Amino acid sequence: MKLKLVEWEQLMRTSIEGLLEYLIVKALAGKDNVIKALTDYFVYGESPSVIALKYDLSKHQVRGYAQRIVEKTGSVTRAKVILKYATPIILKIKPITRSLNNSFIKCLLCGEELPFQIAEDHIKKKHMPIVEDYLQSTVELMRKNIIMDHS
Ligand SMILES: [Zn+2]
Repeated sequence: MKLKLVEWEQLMRTSIEGLLEYLIVKALAGKDNVIKALTDYFVYGESPSVIALKYDLSKHQVRGYAQRIVEKTGSVTRAKVILKYATPIILKIKPITRSLNNSFIKCLLCGEELPFQIAEDHIKKKHMPIVEDYLQSTVELMRKNIIMDHS
C-alpha cells in the first residue's frame, strides 16, 4: 500500500489527536496520575515498577497504559515527543468529576453519580464538546511552545 503525502499527514494528525483526546479525557476524569505515569515512562524513561509505586498503580496497569499509547501513536518516539509538549498543558485542565468514595464519582457538569471505572465513557458520551474545545486549545498551545523552542 502506498500513501500519498496528504494521506500521511492526515494519518499523523489523527494519531496525535487521538492521543491528546485520550489524555484530555483522563484529565477531565481527574486521573492525573495516569498522565504523569505515562510522562515518566515515555519522556523520562522511568521503569514501570518505580512508576507504579509513585502513582498508586500496578505495574500491570502502567504497562497496559503505555501499550495503549503506542497503539494510538504507532511509535514510541512520537509518543515521547507528544507527551513532552502536551503534559504541561493538559495537567492544567480542571477535572469535571469529584470522587464521592472509593468507587463512585459525581459528574460536576450534569450531576450524575457513576462508578469511577466508567467516568471516561461518560465524558466521551455526554460532554464531547468540552473535550473538543480542550483539544483545540491544547493543539494551539503546543504549536506556540514548539515555535518558541525553535526561535
Ligand atoms: Zn456528566
